Amino acid sequence: MADAGTALSFIRLLRDPWRSPDELQALQLSRLRNLIRFAVDHFAFYRGRFDRLDLRPEDIRGHEDLLRIPVVGKELLRQAIREATTIHRNSRWVCTSGSTGMPMRIPFLPRDHSLVNLTWLRPLLAHGIPPRARTLEITGPQNIRLHPAWYQRLGFWRRRSVSILDSEDAWLKALNEDRPDILWGYSGSLKLLAQHIKKSGQTAFRPRWVVGVSDLVDDECRELIREIFHAELLDLYGAAETGCIAWLCSHCGEYHVNIDHLVVEFLPWSAAADPGNPRRIVVTNLYSHAFPIIRYEIGDLGFPSAQSPLCGRGLPLMKVVEGRSDAVVRLPSGRVLSPLFFFAVMKKVAGLARWQVVQEQAGSLTVKVVPDDDGSFSLPLAEKTLRAAVAEPLRIEIEIAAAIPGAETGKVRSVISRLNG
Ligand SMILES: [Zn+2]
Repeated sequence: MADAGTALSFIRLLRDPWRSPDELQALQLSRLRNLIRFAVDHFAFYRGRFDRLDLRPEDIRGHEDLLRIPVVGKELLRQAIREATTIHRNSRWVCTSGSTGMPMRIPFLPRDHSLVNLTWLRPLLAHGIPPRARTLEITGPQNIRLHPAWYQRLGFWRRRSVSILDSEDAWLKALNEDRPDILWGYSGSLKLLAQHIKKSGQTAFRPRWVVGVSDLVDDECRELIREIFHAELLDLYGAAETGCIAWLCSHCGEYHVNIDHLVVEFLPWSAAADPGNPRRIVVTNLYSHAFPIIRYEIGDLGFPSAQSPLCGRGLPLMKVVEGRSDAVVRLPSGRVLSPLFFFAVMKKVAGLARWQVVQEQAGSLTVKVVPDDDGSFSLPLAEKTLRAAVAEPLRIEIEIAAAIPGAETGKVRSVISRLNG
């Protein structure tokens, strides 16, 4: 049941975005310093790291001091959690999607767990979605909750989940049966569902709101959602291990970062960094006391924003997430192409049902394509379009395939890089 602390957190969730940027930064810094002290006091992993650098928690006075703590990647974090002996036995374990092929289990204290879940509600409230709205969610089987949260038992933010591994027909059936107020899913799955409805000509219930999470959104996806559901896609960026990191604000046109819950850094952190290249996103979850997540490289790329919010909120802005760092193509010149680049190019190729770009080696690219049944696909034309768009000496091989294999989680990735770094 909700305790007074959680109820207070809910009020803060509503109120804090309207604090001034200075107030929010001060709040963030005080939470960060508390978390660092807690981590070093309670976890051998962090104590070891600080000792090796001859660093003390009180040395982290401002945001710039954070750079002195080494970044932790997925592999190392997973190992540290596995080896930790001081994780509270009441912790709730959350599974990450494993879209990198490396699913991870992360513990959260019950209170932190509630707070991390609440971060997803902030953007819904900002878009005027009432707490009584019901959701149908298409999600990874690891995220399907068997027990509703306390606020769901009270009739708020009720949610039914269907598995991403089910067919588009099964999703459509659930949508038509449930008639939810909100349709929620990875943007990629929502696009598949909309394409399926369009192609099959079946009737589909139109939820009032469509919320896309954790995937890249291209214009084609937005248009399809508009056409099929008559709704604007609300785009949220986050992960199981962090909660909602940032969300698209319709007033500002960019994403507000939830800095009262997280510290989000963009690396390299230097004025000299090429503004055209997306940066690595590193996150500290201020509500991760069961095992602190400090300077965690989440594997996504994005850009900080220089724009001040227009809506009156004090939460700073970031630009669109360019996708995972293992989902960009590197060109001989050093230019980096994000999946959004390929979404735009492949849209110009006629007769394509599905596609996937894989970079195995520097200097070459394999593009798997599934042509439409109507025979309008032309391989030489596709090759010409791609070459013209890339405009660099790169070996491009187009392979015609019957299907594109999905990741084991069912999240099909459009661009995959197997280059190291
Ligand atoms: Zn805004």
